Amino acid sequence: MNDRELDPIQREEEGSYEISLRPSRFEDFVGQEAIKSNLRVFVEAAKRRGEPVDHMLFCGPPGLGKTTLALILAEERGVSLHSTSAPAIEHKGQLASLLTKLEPNDILFIDEIHRLSPIIEENLYTAVEDFHIDIVNGEGPYAQILKLPLHPFTLVAATTRTGLLTNPMRSRFGYAARLDYYKPEELAKIVRRSASLFQIEIEPEAAMELARRARGTPRIANRLLRRARDFAQVLGDGRIDVEMARTALTRLEIDDAGLDEMDRRYLEVILDQHHGGPVGIDTLAAALAEPRDTIEDVYEPFLLQQGFLARTSRGRCATRKAAEHLGRPWKPEQSGLF
Ligand code: ADP
Repeated sequence: MNDRELDPIQREEEGSYEISLRPSRFEDFVGQEAIKSNLRVFVEAAKRRGEPVDHMLFCGPPGLGKTTLALILAEERGVSLHSTSAPAIEHKGQLASLLTKLEPNDILFIDEIHRLSPIIEENLYTAVEDFHIDIVNGEGPYAQILKLPLHPFTLVAATTRTGLLTNPMRSRFGYAARLDYYKPEELAKIVRRSASLFQIEIEPEAAMELARRARGTPRIANRLLRRARDFAQVLGDGRIDVEMARTALTRLEIDDAGLDEMDRRYLEVILDQHHGGPVGIDTLAAALAEPRDTIEDVYEPFLLQQGFLARTSRGRCATRKAAEHLGRPWKPEQSGLF
């Protein structure tokens, strides 16, 4: 994995920093208003009935708050959260051991659910539908299937790719929500909250400056705050004003559209080496020496959302906005968009 500041995927060193910043109540979770108000209703209804919250699926790019919402659901419902990710469940025994640990109404959070193996996925179906799991005892003709009952629980799953989910899996969820990129004002609020938790002094305009360049992603906004604090402590008096925020962003090579070195390289490959596109994803992956998944999950969603990139049936094309931003001539007649 690369070490770009704008990479929305969580890094190991970030673990404890993130945990201490993670809101545990709806009122501290900024934005995503429609989703939040639905979840509030589901939790309240489940509480009144004494039942688990319905199974749910959160989709969207990394760093937008899927794990945080699972934590909030558990806190608000007053139950424990058990977190894992699909690649960590390698065989049926591991799944059984996770499921049998759950107390009534607990929440099991499975990240990257699209990466579950088919066998585990099938076993999960009976668990989420009928709250039991089949255990095979013995081998060959003497094998017996034992139905192991489970406490009623909630499965909260997260994925960056709904498209990769099987239909039977998708249909198991009572509610599916797609998280969107955040507005700069919302990210500025998150930055100010994080600054106050860490007792960092930051001017409101400086928080806004970091927020505008955080790719719509809370995880990145918090990371930029951390870097700006480093610069403020070493180059200044510890306070982050607009000048200091800009200095930090310039030193990190994040431009005023919030693009970093990697985003610019991506667009340059299309503009300079392929006349603006169309370019196939595998060609791009090879040119950038990055796995295809990373390009599709991490780089492209933001560039698409911001209008720097268009996806056509023949491949990726850079847009006029991209050409202008990078100071390249715009040749619509050569562009794959026409
Ligand atoms: P995901 O699971 O989608 O990758 P996380 O839930 O791990 O994202 O969120 C990444 C970080 O961003 C967390 O540390 C959390 O503090 C912060 N965060 C995410 N969404 C919000 C939000 N809506 N309000 C405040 N902080 C948030």
